[in-house]
Amino acid sequence: MIQISHVSKNYGSFDVLKDCSTTVSKGEVIVVCGPSGSGKSTLIKCVNGLEPFQSGEIIVNGTSVGDPKTNLSKLRAHVGMVFQNFELFPHMSITQNLAIAQVKVLGRQQDEAIDKGLKLLDRVGLKAHAHKFPGQLSGGQQQRVAIARALAMDPICMLFDEPTSALDPEMVNEVLDVMTELAQEGMTMMCVTHEMGFAKRVANRVIFMDHGRIVEDDSKEAFFANPRSERAQQFLAKIL
Ligand code: ADP
Ligand code: MG
Repeated sequence: MIQISHVSKNYGSFDVLKDCSTTVSKGEVIVVCGPSGSGKSTLIKCVNGLEPFQSGEIIVNGTSVGDPKTNLSKLRAHVGMVFQNFELFPHMSITQNLAIAQVKVLGRQQDEAIDKGLKLLDRVGLKAHAHKFPGQLSGGQQQRVAIARALAMDPICMLFDEPTSALDPEMVNEVLDVMTELAQEGMTMMCVTHEMGFAKRVANRVIFMDHGRIVEDDSKEAFFANPRSERAQQFLAKIL
């Protein structure tokens, strides 16, 4: 589903990604972790073309992301992305938030888009909040809306960038539960997160990044039992 081959990216003389390669198969759940500044956000933003890269190749469901001929808006329409800070439209109701891209990007009828949005809102346990505005919801609720909004586009895979790190601790699990359900339903997911409980329960593989490199890419069993690099051992010792 996602094939990342020898991807490098620099900002001037600063190498933010160095020769990164990995693949994510259909239905796989990959957790990406590593210290702050190691390039995790940049890597997953490269996957849906939000960040350009200078060398290497990324293929998503047969489409080359770096190819100038690729229609990135079309690609992004089907690669769901959920950010740390929810990124809902503050001046629109939850219903409008769920419907707008379906109408504007996929060309769905308004009624159909609203109907689909409400079904997904129900699925994340928030049907009663449809008429509210984002500012009237808790962080955990807003993030569940953001996930529902991404799902409304019928994504072929989902990218998460620290979806729970801006949340109060008591709200983390409500978001992880939604992500866990998605994973169990077979969604292909690439999740930047430091929630190692989630990684242990749900991930198929764990990628550990350091200074722009993928230094571990292993089954979760191997990663947690015996991380190969010293850097990953230190990281785990700190956060577990
Ligand atoms: P992570 O998500 O692992 O914390 P990021 O991918 O956000 O890391 O960033 C990796 C590195 O790239 C950081 O050192 C960051 O400061 C740097 N960086 C990110 N965006 C830019 C930019 N637009 N210009 C220069 N450096 C950047
Ligand atoms: Mg980041």
